[in-house]
Amino acid sequence: MIPINFEYHRPTSITEAVETFQQLQLDGKGPLYFNGGTEIITLLRVNQFYTNTRAVIDIKAIPECCYTGFEDDHYIIGASIPLAQIETMGTFPLLGKNCSRIADHTSRMKITLGGNICGKIKYREAVLPLLLTDSELTIAGPSGQRHVPIHQVFDQHMNLEQGEFIVQIRIPKLFLDVPFTSKKQTKIDRISYSLLTVSAIKTEQQIRFAFSGLCNFPFRSQEMEKALNQCQLSVEERITEAIALLPSPILNDLHGSAAYRTFVLRNTLEETIAELEGES
Ligand SMILES: Cc1cc2nc3c(=O)[nH]c(=O)nc-3n(C[C@H](O)[C@H](O)[C@H](O)COP(=O)(O)OP(=O)(O)OC[C@H]3O[C@@H](n4cnc5c(N)ncnc54)[C@H](O)[C@@H]3O)c2cc1C
Repeated sequence: MIPINFEYHRPTSITEAVETFQQLQLDGKGPLYFNGGTEIITLLRVNQFYTNTRAVIDIKAIPECCYTGFEDDHYIIGASIPLAQIETMGTFPLLGKNCSRIADHTSRMKITLGGNICGKIKYREAVLPLLLTDSELTIAGPSGQRHVPIHQVFDQHMNLEQGEFIVQIRIPKLFLDVPFTSKKQTKIDRISYSLLTVSAIKTEQQIRFAFSGLCNFPFRSQEMEKALNQCQLSVEERITEAIALLPSPILNDLHGSAAYRTFVLRNTLEETIAELEGES
């Protein structure tokens, strides 16, 4: 049971959503944009994070949020597209693969791309392909709409201004079919939270790497990438250098100790490098 009552709004345009947010904010209702609702409902039930929420604004009836298609040099995915749909679309195989390993199929029919990358949960595995491909976000809010490189607004977690929401994700077309690999390791079951997820793509210059389940937040680190791409060194030396450059301590929790994660990280990086360095 959800212990509080809250209002439910379902605007059909971006302008209406933003205006509704502003009004509800003025009314002291602590509004939240609502997408798949899986995290909001789960956390409301257990009285965590969203305890001041008295109104939600469902963005799934806004056409732009449900759009997929090509525009100029970008492939566009609306923020309300469910992970299960991305998995079957096949246009961006790396993102499809990461989405296919998040939760079970029934949950993936509800969980949206926007909800995964904006959620409170520390894994947010769908963000890894977006960081690797220097994707952009279309963000709407009280000051209008803007396209922003993801690196400008995502640092450990999404940093949006009050009243803003993500309308669309814009992936540069040139990265849609580059060689990639993505490996999710879990403690026991195939469907579970990540012990470690390493996603990587090969561009003309180098291999790019992004991680989830390793630290308290998902990330891509250019310093680690530099270390891992030093082809004059042995793979083992590169990995040792990269591990010394991690942006925060390795997680040590029920899914695995920090020592075990380090062991799995070494093996996963070795496999990733072997696979992608062999790719032309
Ligand atoms: C059974 C289960 C297993 C799971 N396993 C994994 C896993 O292995 N890996 C993983 O990464 N995640 C996992 N999750 C977490 C899951 O990804 C989150 O529940 C999901 O990300 C929330 O998405 P949603 O669309 O339901 O978002 P909502 O619950 O609607 O919203 C979540 C948060 O994001 C905000 N938000 C949503 N959309 C937008 C937007 N467009 N713009 C701005 N803010 C927005 C909301 O305001 C809210 O704060 C699992 C969840 C379940 C239920």
